[in-house]
Amino acid sequence: MRKFFNNKNTFFLASQDLEESINIARDAKIQEVRLKTALQEKIRRYHSIKKIIEEVNRSLDLDSVALHLTNISFSVIAKEKGTCILYLADSLSHSLALFKTRKEDKKLVIKAKEGDIFDIWVLRHSSPLLVEDIRKDFRFDVEKLLSQRERPIASIISAGLISENSFLGILRLDNPVPGFYTQEDLRFLVTLCDLGAVALENSELFQRTKELAIHDGLTQAFNKGYFAQRLKDELKRNIRRNTELSLLMLDIDHFKQYNDTFGHAAGDIVLKELYNQMNDGLKDLSPILSRFGGEEFSVILSGVNRERAYQAAQALCRRVEKARISLRRQELGITVSIGVASFPRDASDTDELILKADRALYEAKRQGRNRAVCAGS
Ligand code: GH3
Ligand code: MG
Ligand code: MG
Repeated sequence: MRKFFNNKNTFFLASQDLEESINIARDAKIQEVRLKTALQEKIRRYHSIKKIIEEVNRSLDLDSVALHLTNISFSVIAKEKGTCILYLADSLSHSLALFKTRKEDKKLVIKAKEGDIFDIWVLRHSSPLLVEDIRKDFRFDVEKLLSQRERPIASIISAGLISENSFLGILRLDNPVPGFYTQEDLRFLVTLCDLGAVALENSELFQRTKELAIHDGLTQAFNKGYFAQRLKDELKRNIRRNTELSLLMLDIDHFKQYNDTFGHAAGDIVLKELYNQMNDGLKDLSPILSRFGGEEFSVILSGVNRERAYQAAQALCRRVEKARISLRRQELGITVSIGVASFPRDASDTDELILKADRALYEAKRQGRNRAVCAGS
């Protein structure tokens, strides 16, 4: 009888051991599956890093760099859930401006165009942020949250796009579910931001270089190279629309004398002032102003016929004549001569149009300066 009980007890203990082993094995299995899933996710993410490096480095355009960054963050980290926002930072005013968004709810309009308390926190601290549940995070006063009224937010990850020299922007993801993002998600977002900052800075530099390449350094008018290309493009546009295009060629009268009397630096001030006068005087006609070299400017007036262009040119002569430029306590004035030619009335291509406007300018000089003259008159 005792033997029977002993056996039963041994059997009971053995079955308990077995059950425990099964439990351990099951836990290990679950752990293994989790690890495998996490590893697969990591591999997926590293693949996407390779893709983003290729994509963002291929484009030098700010818009497409921003688009790649938001697309990758929204698909890889957010799994297309919640909202992803990219803000650009203005380093002078320390403010943010909404630049690109990706949203689960396509109809949602983001009202916090300059960022909310979380974005401002990232900007101030220059540090990444993970909030698991905004209602439980003592660092933030949720009452102040404007975006809470437009969409429910519980969890957030956010990181700065920071280059060696400056704070360029913020990439931020939020979701209505608490604890949606992990530390691993934040680490990945920071990696994306590091890559993105380099690309963003390159694209901004590229854009600035592009601006420099088409503008005249002194007056900020377009330069001659840009003018030639733009005139061709505008001409095609006007042919398609069956509209007229007018060209003004403007030259300052007796400018050499002016320079000789007051000096070259004074002459430069006059050139800048003239550019402003031209911009203001012609603004109703959407002028495309270029410095043609020296003290000669060209103005493309797209969709403007010769009569209107001639009237505008005459009015500009009067305006410049009246304007006073203060130089070393002296009030000085200049006058200009303008040649006007139009397409298709005076010319059949861009070269002929420039030639006709130039000849008209020469005629304005010949007739005594301080006036506008039309081609063929
Ligand atoms: P006109 O009425 O016949 O045009 O007489 P002008 O003296 O203006 O003759 P022209 O147009 O040939 O003179 C060009 C002068 O413009 C020569 C130079 O002194 C001056 N000039 C050209 N480029 C610049 C510039 O970048 N800055 C300054 N300050 N002067 C310039
Ligand atoms: Mg001149
Ligand atoms: Mg000249």
